[in-house]
Amino acid sequence: MSKLKLKKKVMYRGIVVLIILIVGSILGLNFYNDYQYRQTYEYKLIEHGYNLEEAKKLVDFYKEDEILNSILLREKNTTIVELIQEKYYIHKNLERYLKYKDKNKDTTIKDVIAIVNVNRDYEFYEQDIPTDTSLGILINVNKYYTLPDDFEPIDISDISIRYSYNGNKMTKEANDAYVSMWNSAKNEGLTLIVNSSYRDLATQERVYNNIKASSGMKEADKVAARPGHSEHQTGLAIDVFEVGNQATSTFKDSPAYTWLKNNAHLYGFIERYPEDKEYLTGYSFESWHWRYVGIEVATKMYEENITFDEYYAYYIENQA
Ligand SMILES: [Zn+2]
Repeated sequence: MSKLKLKKKVMYRGIVVLIILIVGSILGLNFYNDYQYRQTYEYKLIEHGYNLEEAKKLVDFYKEDEILNSILLREKNTTIVELIQEKYYIHKNLERYLKYKDKNKDTTIKDVIAIVNVNRDYEFYEQDIPTDTSLGILINVNKYYTLPDDFEPIDISDISIRYSYNGNKMTKEANDAYVSMWNSAKNEGLTLIVNSSYRDLATQERVYNNIKASSGMKEADKVAARPGHSEHQTGLAIDVFEVGNQATSTFKDSPAYTWLKNNAHLYGFIERYPEDKEYLTGYSFESWHWRYVGIEVATKMYEENITFDEYYAYYIENQA
């Protein structure tokens, strides 16, 4: 063999080896990448039946291994993907959301979340959760959250008869806020007047028991709160009307109500039982019942157009 031929042979071999190396490493890298991908939740969720988009949404949302593993342990359910895309989704309620949606197929995902968050998937008074009284102006009292029997609001003060009927009281902070709201309304030619405010446990007991005695428990539960469950016991709620316009049936049509709706949050007050929200609050529309929560929270609720029950579930309980 000539030297030249030998050189060529060596060169060919070199090229072949090089090609094998290149192809090999590409394949190897691919296998490696494949292997890596198979370890991801995205892959596992797709294997579980979700499509790529759904898998990506679940991974993006949950991030944590523990939760993603728990999603993999349950049957594929695209309702979960719909639920996590809603703003007020709370993970600890997932089971309840799914159960509620299953029983109420026509309810929108948004409503399912709102309803479960405010406990409306339970019967009234079935839960009786002792409410967190350390929350001060953000105490939640409703048909699920109860005040302790010995609860007494701090700083209860008389509302001046300039702004209310005689004998009305509120906590000092709420009272001051009401007075400044009253003055602004007055500047618009509206004279607000409080006709009911702080009620202690004994008074609430009397109110409720009187109705119960005359009309039965069902009716009493419809129109009054059970003792320990009335927001009036917190000293943060008022029933407010306009002088000359004090019928519960027509106050909603008054300029004073419209003014309150647009401005009360600027003074820290919120409409507690709005129209069309009975399915969340558990109370029929009460245009006259306003609750003090402070300007910051009132403004946020106003901007997001949510009830206090929804606010409480998502921004207080869920973040605690
Ligand atoms: Zn009221």
